[in-house]
Amino acid sequence: MSADEPIIGIDLGTTFSLVAYADERGPHVLRDENGDARVPSVLAVLPGTPGAPPTLTIGWPARDHAVENVKTTVYSVKRLIGKGLADLEAELPFLNYTVAGGPRDTVQIDIDGRRYSPEEISSAILRKLRERAEQQLGGPVRKAVITVPAYFDDAQRQATRTAGEAAGLEVLRIVNEPTAATLAYGIGAKIADQPENNTGGISLPIPTCPTASSDASTADHTQTVVVYDLGGGTFDVSVLRIENGVFQVLSTAGDTRLGGDDFDRTLITLVTREVQEQFDVGITAPATRQALRTLAEAIKIRLSEQNSAQIELSLGDDRVYRRTITRADYEELTSPLVERTLELCTRALRDADLGSNDIQQVILVGGSTRMPLVRQRVEQYFGRPPYTALNPDEVVALGAAIQASILAGQQPDMLLLDVTPLSLGIETMGGAMGKLILRNTTIPCRATEMFTTFVDGQTAIKLNVLQGERELARDCRPLGEFELRGIPPMPAGMPKVEVEFLLDANGILNVSAVEQRSGTQASIQIVPSHGLTKDEVARITRESVEHAQEDIAAHRRIDLVNQVEFDIHKTQQMLAKVGAELNADERARIERDIVVLRELAQREQNLDRLQEALTAFGHSTLRLAELGIRGALADQTDKNATEER
Ligand code: ADP
Ligand code: MG
Repeated sequence: MSADEPIIGIDLGTTFSLVAYADERGPHVLRDENGDARVPSVLAVLPGTPGAPPTLTIGWPARDHAVENVKTTVYSVKRLIGKGLADLEAELPFLNYTVAGGPRDTVQIDIDGRRYSPEEISSAILRKLRERAEQQLGGPVRKAVITVPAYFDDAQRQATRTAGEAAGLEVLRIVNEPTAATLAYGIGAKIADQPENNTGGISLPIPTCPTASSDASTADHTQTVVVYDLGGGTFDVSVLRIENGVFQVLSTAGDTRLGGDDFDRTLITLVTREVQEQFDVGITAPATRQALRTLAEAIKIRLSEQNSAQIELSLGDDRVYRRTITRADYEELTSPLVERTLELCTRALRDADLGSNDIQQVILVGGSTRMPLVRQRVEQYFGRPPYTALNPDEVVALGAAIQASILAGQQPDMLLLDVTPLSLGIETMGGAMGKLILRNTTIPCRATEMFTTFVDGQTAIKLNVLQGERELARDCRPLGEFELRGIPPMPAGMPKVEVEFLLDANGILNVSAVEQRSGTQASIQIVPSHGLTKDEVARITRESVEHAQEDIAAHRRIDLVNQVEFDIHKTQQMLAKVGAELNADERARIERDIVVLRELAQREQNLDRLQEALTAFGHSTLRLAELGIRGALADQTDKNATEER
């Protein structure tokens, strides 16, 4: 076996499973041909041709036919694994397939008279994930890290391990899901596997950093983290302490019957009741019920993005139920579910003997944490914005892959630094890179800058977050973009947009933009080190030195061209307003100057000459500017007079 045989990370979930792998760029999930990383944790037994054994299907095909094959489709087997019949009394009424007692206090699933152990079914799912990994990594895959919930007992962990081995995988480690999520955010990864090698925190200082030396954050690196995991059918909250790379689960709480399905159910109940009221019929046909279930989930997901959605359900005989539902309506329906998760957070904190103030970070896991109400309430509860930068469906698998790469001895390549290795900024007008945080700044750190609009009446600003050392946006690495919408229409230059970059101790970047006159705001969270290698940092730094001169010129040119556009725009406004007070010659001259300057800005390569032309334009429009200011003052006096009246 070669030393660099890949080790994969697997999130073996109740409803979905994923496989991920970490190469020198860091972890990434392995997707199917449609770009989907999730494999439904569902197995269907399809009757074979007479005489032949039944065939097993896994994943989407199995899930898509679940309604037709109620008795032969097995889902949620994670709820059964490693458990005895006696433990499962509460579960059984929810399962459509037949569960029977097996040997040595285990359970088995009976499908058409053949019996399957939960391990066998999990192993079929794991084999599917292993095959995906082999296809994409282009070689045999025999080693894996598999995650399980923090509350899994020894029997459940052992059974998961057995399932892995049956799938031809050597299970190097069983990792707690919240631990994996934490690792995915770069917390505790550096020395997670070698506490004995601990040289003090998750730092890997860059020697050239002059300001980082006195930073205290490397000395004592204990963090207490809450992982809030709201999935399809379950809710888990865990409190972890990470000290010098060693993870300790302080407490867990949860509800194995609280998840996205319950949010869907509130909509199903609402529609069922209103259909009864309006049409005096119940929704009983299985096809209609299935359609309603699918619809409810789709509406829920749409309301995570939009403020309202249309519900339309065909009831047969040309009867159609229609209604609009707003996000506010939906949040009113579902807020008791969210409050219930917070009560469980309270319990977990109490069991850990902590208050919400003792928590340094909150990490959101599970597809249902995309709901704005969940994010909002969690933020209020813990008094800090939770970590959301990574896809909540993928974060556990990503962390499993990081654990795998640590076991493979690859972690020295990971970028977990106590200084930011590259500058961070945003794209400014004309395609320049406006740096807010310079490279080698000690983290945590914060920077703000004011921006404004360039067009009159502009109501939205797009913010493109960049990483790199070059002066032009197109030569930097795009990290993510977001839009600040709803700025009230104002003249160009009037809005005051404060952009804040906050890079926390774990290297997670929060970028927010606030328009200060109206208070509108927007934000994004990013993991800047994602997909970045040390080699790349070195290359980017080297290239910035090589291109320094041309870059500075390019940046200066953009600034000059912006200034030209801005001055021309202001001049034209003033011509329109007070131009009549100039004589015709003077007006014609200014109009000619505008054309000449604009053309010069397009083609002039000598920037000093362009600067001179801009200065000269300023002189030649001085009288107009004075008239404009006087006009504006007069307007103001009139306005004040009107207001006083
Ligand atoms: P599990 O860990 O239980 O296997 P996941 O973490 O994959 O489950 O979460 C699945 C749940 O997330 C489903 O109930 C799904 O409807 C919900 N979900 C996915 N995307 C969104 C979204 N954008 N808004 C609200 N719920 C979502
Ligand atoms: Mg999950």
